[in-house]
Amino acid sequence: MSTLLSLQNVAHFLLGKKMIIAKSERDLDKMRGVGELIADVREVLRGMVAPGISTLELNDAADKMIRDAGAIPTFIGYHGFPYAICASVNDEVVHGFSKKIPLVEGDIVSLDMAATFNGFVGDTAMTLPVGEISDELRQLIRVTEECLDAGIAKSRANGRVGDISAAVQQHAEKFGYGIVRDYTGHGIGRQMHEAPQIPNHGRAGTKEKIRVGYCFAIEPMLNLGSADVRTLSDKWTVVTLDGKASAHAEHTIAVTADGPEILTLTREQKRQLRAKASVSATS
Ligand code: MG
Repeated sequence: MSTLLSLQNVAHFLLGKKMIIAKSERDLDKMRGVGELIADVREVLRGMVAPGISTLELNDAADKMIRDAGAIPTFIGYHGFPYAICASVNDEVVHGFSKKIPLVEGDIVSLDMAATFNGFVGDTAMTLPVGEISDELRQLIRVTEECLDAGIAKSRANGRVGDISAAVQQHAEKFGYGIVRDYTGHGIGRQMHEAPQIPNHGRAGTKEKIRVGYCFAIEPMLNLGSADVRTLSDKWTVVTLDGKASAHAEHTIAVTADGPEILTLTREQKRQLRAKASVSATS
């Protein structure tokens, strides 16, 4: 779940800038545990998305899986948010409510979810096609994922938070997409939203210094049209002002001495990543 830039700025002004909390090895093991747990939920939902299913069914499945694993759906009750997942369809950007309305062929749906387990939070999101979608939407989803990868690659000790922001912005701008500026990624740990804020636009070499043990939720939100958004009367659902589609992708990552480690992957996805890394290391 993204954090509202302007409100956080007000909070920083009133409370003083919040400290970034570096995680110990012990904390990181718990972050790995909850990361894997929520990644498993995400992958089950990925397999369920198809024309005819409703976002409420997806929400209920996620809620049950998280609770069956002994964890808590972090979003429920977060400032009054009523669902286990944020389900944002087409022109909905983030924080959408789950509904009984079935998804239809050609839609895209962003599913954002988090769990709290052993005192730590894992937060992840993906945008999926519903059946066959247009090439335009397929590219939007792909580039959003590439922006996430670009941001993760810059999550390195001794770099700066602005390096992450700049990497996301530069890739998104190659395609002329509107980068949502009102909501940002964030530090994560015992709380879903910790310092620092991680905007999806910015300048390399600026903002907070990145250190080993920092954990971030990086989450580009890209619009097919303009970057402008508004919030619906439900006080949560953020939609594009021009009504064009929006995509969102998110991972929780840890900064280690060896580089960024994606925490919100399943065991199988981690195994595949290691296999890929060893192939590229030997070729
Ligand atoms: Mg988030």
